[in-house]
Amino acid sequence: MYEQNVIKIEELTQKQNVWRSSTINLIASENVLSQRARNLMASDFAHRYAEGHPGERYYQGTAMIDQIETSVTEAVKKLFHCRQADVRPISGNLTNDAVFSTFIKPGDVVMVNSTPGGGHISHHRAGSVGKYTSNIVNFPLAADGYHMDVDKAIEYAKALKPKVMVLGKSLFLFPEPVKELAEFCQKSKITLIYDGAHVLGLIAGGQFQDPLAEGAVILNGSTHKTFFGSQRGVVMSNFEDADWKKVDRATFPGASSNHHLHTLAVLGVAVYEMLEFGQEYAKQVIANAKCLGQKMYDRGFKVQAPEFGFTQSHQIAVDMSPFGNGAEAAKRLEDNNIITNFNLLPFEPLSNVTKPSGIRIGVQEMTRFGMKAAEMDTIADFFKQILMDGKSIAADVEAFRKQYQRVHYSFDSK
Ligand SMILES: *Cc1c(COP(=O)(O)O)cnc(C)c1O
Repeated sequence: MYEQNVIKIEELTQKQNVWRSSTINLIASENVLSQRARNLMASDFAHRYAEGHPGERYYQGTAMIDQIETSVTEAVKKLFHCRQADVRPISGNLTNDAVFSTFIKPGDVVMVNSTPGGGHISHHRAGSVGKYTSNIVNFPLAADGYHMDVDKAIEYAKALKPKVMVLGKSLFLFPEPVKELAEFCQKSKITLIYDGAHVLGLIAGGQFQDPLAEGAVILNGSTHKTFFGSQRGVVMSNFEDADWKKVDRATFPGASSNHHLHTLAVLGVAVYEMLEFGQEYAKQVIANAKCLGQKMYDRGFKVQAPEFGFTQSHQIAVDMSPFGNGAEAAKRLEDNNIITNFNLLPFEPLSNVTKPSGIRIGVQEMTRFGMKAAEMDTIADFFKQILMDGKSIAADVEAFRKQYQRVHYSFDSK
């Protein structure tokens, strides 16, 4: 009786596969798995449980995943040059929850990036931080809106005595002032946490900042944004075992029980791809972001932060108010097979959240499909044709995108 519904779901999934392989995806929080990684998605591990740590499980039947989990954990430590790593959290948000539940006590003052300043919802009242305290203070922004005013932040901190500072953003163009805050935090017993969800792949490739080396005590984040693995999270630190134990208990059983073993095997492939190709990949991602920023700026788009070279990450931000707003622009782009998201820009009121002036663009996925400077120029031109010239070019975009189907920076056969 319900098989028709199943058929419909199968058809929609197939349609998604075909459609999205013919769109230019510029969502800054997404990426693609290599074929080798993707092939492991449907394994028997999808059915299994393995709570606890390898060798100390609460179930039998975990011999294979024990070996995989140990391998992935050791590879993550090597990649991020750190003493401790927990690869069990099943999303970036749950890494935040594990970390915040460890370090934030009721009533503590916590400093975070504001939403218009690029901060993630999990850092705010409605998100994870808000579950542990309501004393949430935003870092002050510098006049350009894309950097922190560090002197003022330290001034605020001296007056408000925060217990925790959370760095890291979702609209994330430039490195955070980790070095500038680390000494002050250490002196003042403030736990300095770096939520690297967006930039984890750039950090892994050694092309962004190295938060743990610069003085953050925790680095956590998602494994599927610039880090091109399955949708999961990871927490890292240089803590000694005694301090790490608290974080360990917060990830399991605090923030998850079973940890989705099939996607852990998939993540393992991505971690080794990062070790082998991460540097080359991250360099190209950042070069492409800067290049797309320049090419769009040259065509008259209001690309943000031109005085700083637009970006040092995988993202650029563009003010779309000349075309209505960010939401209208994003819709017109989608109608032409270019997928982006609308985004608040710095200093914009929160009430603009469903029709903000900006869009956020990330080039990491198209980079993984092998695109470089010439292709960034083509994409900038597509933006011009769609938004400035009012043309309908869905078929042109599709024909262009169809030429880029192999996932680079992977062990997939050439
Ligand atoms: C995306 C994001 C998260 C949440 O990660 P998920 O993997 O989507 O749960 C947390 N923090 C920041 C800064 C992010 O951008």
